[in-house]
Amino acid sequence: MSPVEYCQLYIDGEWREAASGDRMETIDPTTEAAITTIAKGSEDDAAAAVEAARRCADSKDWARMPATERHGLMMTIADIIERHADEFARCETLDMGKPIQFARSIDAVLLAELFRFYGALAADPEGAARSVAPPPDHALRQVMTVREPVGVVAAITPFNFPLLLAASKIAPAMATGNAIVHKPASATPLSAVRLAMAFEEAGLPRGVYNLVTGPGAELGNALVEHEGVDKIAFTGSTGVGKGIIAKSADTVKKVTMELGGKSAHIVFADADMESAVQNAVFGIFYNKGEICTAGSRLLVERRALDEVLSALTAAAEALVIGDPLDPETFLGPLASESQLKKVESYVKSGLDAGADLRCGGERTEPASLDGKGWFYKPTIFLGTNDMAIAREEIFGPVLTVIPFDDEADAIRIANDTEFGLASGVQTSDMAKALRVANALEAGVCWINSYNYFDVSVPFGGYKRSGFGRECGRATLEAYTQMKSIWLPAIEETR
Ligand code: NAD
Repeated sequence: MSPVEYCQLYIDGEWREAASGDRMETIDPTTEAAITTIAKGSEDDAAAAVEAARRCADSKDWARMPATERHGLMMTIADIIERHADEFARCETLDMGKPIQFARSIDAVLLAELFRFYGALAADPEGAARSVAPPPDHALRQVMTVREPVGVVAAITPFNFPLLLAASKIAPAMATGNAIVHKPASATPLSAVRLAMAFEEAGLPRGVYNLVTGPGAELGNALVEHEGVDKIAFTGSTGVGKGIIAKSADTVKKVTMELGGKSAHIVFADADMESAVQNAVFGIFYNKGEICTAGSRLLVERRALDEVLSALTAAAEALVIGDPLDPETFLGPLASESQLKKVESYVKSGLDAGADLRCGGERTEPASLDGKGWFYKPTIFLGTNDMAIAREEIFGPVLTVIPFDDEADAIRIANDTEFGLASGVQTSDMAKALRVANALEAGVCWINSYNYFDVSVPFGGYKRSGFGRECGRATLEAYTQMKSIWLPAIEETR
């Protein structure tokens, strides 16, 4: 049974059907059956949500809520999430096939931590004052610089970490007094409904958080083009992100972009091979490879290539694939049939380009599931950096191993990509690791680990992987604008 039985839009503190009355199914990728139905919002509903958020932002009551009260509210939200952590985890598992062991130990935990972290910062708003004596009179004046909310934030989020990528926008937006319209991915709306229920239970003022579910392009476009939206916080593919950047120019919206990746994970021959292989496996197959930071290009020093390939293949073939609700499962189904088709077409392109398939390369049907589910075997190719499987984001359990000769060669290949989201280095030589980390064009580099995240650590991309950072204190800048208030000249007493 789903933790959320009946899903509606949440606008202006009320649950409601779409203006059209239409509903759509949300599908469980494990059973290929509908989990439940959800309101199918349209442009009219997006407009209603923006208007509610606008009223909330313009009234200033929310923006000027005392810091201790805002802090208390966000801590209450975190408490509620923790109390219902199993339900939140279950939503993600049902809706996108994320294995419950990770949904419960990573997604549900970091979700509460995001509200605690930004709730703590909300208790301590930043501001500054300074003395200046500018020309022409050089009289002494004092200036206060204060941070104000940007106003209405549209949060547009993808299907692969529905809760975390929503909360990494909603929590800092709330902490800084903005009103929010959230549009989750059309395939994975369930957990956003559960989150709205938590906000309602916590007593969040009406209009602060508004949820619209429905077709991505229609709702997304409506938000991007709406005059009443001040900022777009987007996580998704580079293609959709480019379109949003172009369209948001008309109304000069502030935008932050967390986009795609094709991250290089470098294994030097001097690495502790057992842990390097474990990290490589977690780097690409965690979350079924449906993760923006996926270490999908594994660069291996040529003299260790055979050893790495055979250990890697054995580890990939040993991964437990099956029902994501089973706590033993490591690999669940891909989130949708379209993801499965995309993976199949990239595997075909790899084979057509002459890449050497070392394992996987086909669908699989876990016995307990009666032939149902969009499961795909962990797949490893030995290839080259010019193949489409090494240049384009596949967003599935497909790894391309690419040999290199020395440190300079590894850096050259790693940076030979349009993306710049993440990277990894496996070596026992820390000086080399730091040299390489500094040379890599990517927003994050894990040394002797991979795919670790913390709510206090800034995260985001270089190059076409986007701009702006999520998590950490620096994000608050993206949700505020700075105002300088000049006080009259100070008359000196003699
Ligand atoms: P997507 O770009 O297809 O969709 C992202 C969101 O945009 C969804 O809510 C979707 O409904 C909406 N959307 C679709 N068309 C739109 C339009 N024309 N205007 C406005 N919004 C529109 O991405 P996805 O398939 O859901 O997610 C996978 C992608 O997200 C991958 O490329 C992945 O790398 C990226 N991603 C990046 C990060 C990061 O932090 N950099 C994190 C997770 C995922």
